[in-house]
Amino acid sequence: MGASETPLFPPVLPHRHPEAPRGADLDKCIHCGLCLNNCPTYRELGVEMDSPRGRIYQMLQVATGQMEPGPSYYQHLDLCLACRGCESACPSGVPYGRLIEAARAEIEATRPQPWAARRLRSFVFGTLLVSRGWIKFAGALIYLYESLGLRKLARSSGLLRLFGKLGRIEHLAPSAEVPFFFGQIGKTFPAQGEQRRRVAFLAGCLANVTSARLNEATVRVLQRNGCEVVIPEDQTCCGALHVHSGLKDMARALARRNVAAFLSGDFDAIVTNAAGCGSTLKEYDELLEHDPEFAGKASEFVKKVRDITEFLAEIGLRPEMGPLNLTVTYQDSCHLAHGQKIRQAPRDLLKSIPGVTFRELPLADLCCGSAGIYNIVHDDIADSLLRKKMALVDSTGAQVVTTANVGCAIQLKAGAERYGRRQRVLHVVELLDEAYRQRPL
Ligand code: SF4
Ligand code: SF4
Repeated sequence: MGASETPLFPPVLPHRHPEAPRGADLDKCIHCGLCLNNCPTYRELGVEMDSPRGRIYQMLQVATGQMEPGPSYYQHLDLCLACRGCESACPSGVPYGRLIEAARAEIEATRPQPWAARRLRSFVFGTLLVSRGWIKFAGALIYLYESLGLRKLARSSGLLRLFGKLGRIEHLAPSAEVPFFFGQIGKTFPAQGEQRRRVAFLAGCLANVTSARLNEATVRVLQRNGCEVVIPEDQTCCGALHVHSGLKDMARALARRNVAAFLSGDFDAIVTNAAGCGSTLKEYDELLEHDPEFAGKASEFVKKVRDITEFLAEIGLRPEMGPLNLTVTYQDSCHLAHGQKIRQAPRDLLKSIPGVTFRELPLADLCCGSAGIYNIVHDDIADSLLRKKMALVDSTGAQVVTTANVGCAIQLKAGAERYGRRQRVLHVVELLDEAYRQRPL
């Protein structure tokens, strides 16, 4: 082997950990740096080790045994938003999303953690997110907090300052929308007009409480577009937050349950209105690739998954909408634009609403800082991203900011209140619903 063929790095050690980043994925990075400008944390911090290239370099060092994972490694990987903006810029096809998920899974399995932190994670991911009872209980607490005026009091009195970080992120707490959407799970909603499709709808986990009206709007828009909508009873949380946090075994258990629930009916499509969920649902085949019973079923499942914007653009919108006369902009959800490569469908849907003036948002596909639970864990960076995002939103003059993910909508609502001009923040499908409701059949 000549000098020019000498590998840049020693070979990846085999079987470091079953979940560890794959050598073949790491080797795709040619360290060109073209992704740096697309990376929100690099733009914020200006630190190479907090860029995609820097993070991949650190993963490589760990994978080749040149570096032992330690606090610095954990911190740089932890600061990643997993927004996958780097994937869109990469000329080499590096599957960064898969790399960061694998690195986090390895960290989760090997990093020593205090007992209390482990218990808390286990409760949040293993109980709260997957139990309808616990989500209803949490929703009821939020509802009481708001309806008894405690939220108003806490905000106006300055009391929140006494609660440290909890006080700093209070503005991100979404509202509890009663009645919760849980009551609709298990039901079937008939198509309006001639039936064109039969679809299953994934209602989400927390979204049943925080986005109950969005879920209702989604069902209505599907019905209006000739779809019979079934909401399978046995569905559960999609596992996206688990995957992003390195808890792959928990995610696999949830994936198996969803695959069984959604394949039990003969559906033309499995529809979600949450880009973060959709991105994970579309990767169930990778998640379950070593499961002899579910690998094939997961591939079948993945073929049917559609984001609501993708699905509506695919079947073609029925045009009977009333005019809205609004100026609207659109913030790409990372897991729709970068994760699922869907950019045009939501824009086309918005432009098809009579009376809507669409204004493109500068840097629309740069993360708003929401990123699952990132805005809670790293509130300082998330807040800085949000502040800059709202300045760009303001520059469009739009009255309505639309997006395609529940988490982004919550973050942008907080941004519009704090840093923006109190613009309305809606999911694309909510605006479609408003237009359809102007022209009842
Ligand atoms: S991830 Fe892609 S764009 Fe970034 S340094 Fe590696 S090869 Fe270049
Ligand atoms: S996923 Fe986002 S934050 Fe993480 S390295 Fe890529 S661009 Fe940066």
